[in-house]
Amino acid sequence: MSTALVTGASSGIGAAFARKLAEEGYDLVLVARDKPRLEALGAELAEQQRITATALPADLATAEGRALVAARLAEDPVHLLVNNAGIGLRGEFWRIPPEDLQRQLDINVTAVLELTRAALPGMIERGTGDVINVSSVAGFFSGSGSTYPATKNWVTSFTEGIATALPPGVRMLALCPGFTHTEFHDRAGVAKPGPKALWLSADRVVADALTDLRRGKVISVPGLPYKAIVAIGGLVPRGLLRRLSGLVSDRE
Ligand code: NAP
Repeated sequence: MSTALVTGASSGIGAAFARKLAEEGYDLVLVARDKPRLEALGAELAEQQRITATALPADLATAEGRALVAARLAEDPVHLLVNNAGIGLRGEFWRIPPEDLQRQLDINVTAVLELTRAALPGMIERGTGDVINVSSVAGFFSGSGSTYPATKNWVTSFTEGIATALPPGVRMLALCPGFTHTEFHDRAGVAKPGPKALWLSADRVVADALTDLRRGKVISVPGLPYKAIVAIGGLVPRGLLRRLSGLVSDRE
């Protein structure tokens, strides 16, 4: 029986990962702050899919929370780690309280670094294991007045760099979704941007990620429109991209 640890499993893309992985027969360790929500999801999946699901409540913005999850990964290696927890922030960099900016950096970046570092030795020793880091299409662009794209740029670059050095059998994928129906925008206090046609379901994003991981890809961009945006974005001169970003202000 394989085990997967999913962070940010209480809602959105993380909950969709938990559901899909339970369907595939993975035992689950579910991480987020909201213990009752994790326990309710775990109980539902355990009953439906005959797997075990353990809630591991932790605040990944704190050193203690990250250490708790890292210790679980180091003590009892998992077969799949999904670093999914992440937040956006509303407002311009120079107006957001510094402690909020630090919290975002710790959840979106430090937790990914520390949990991956904790999980990989066991996977490498066993010669098998997978890590999925949830990044974003936003990470391919600098955005305008926001540090969110920079955190996701780090996640994608980190994933590519480490994936390149991993021994056979151990795989790492950066999942780079575009707009996805979850609680993300409500929590950040920002309006849902873009045309409806561009919005993806969390289930679709998860299905594409698992397919791409198993095909040996390192970067997964779900949906043709987003594949095109990323490809065209890579061809446009950076100065022009910055001017376009200034017109399409994201402020998250
Ligand atoms: P979501 O529905 O808001 O889910 C975020 C998850 O992260 C929740 O389970 C939340 O649980 C957890 N979380 C937040 N702060 C945490 C903390 N301090 N410690 C531990 N867990 C924490 O949003 P989502 O869209 O599914 O986000 C998942 C990932 O997708 C994020 O990394 C996000 O950047 C990325 N993404 C989202 C979109 C989009 O359009 N939705 C697009 C591209 C990338 P608790 O509140 O219970 O802690």
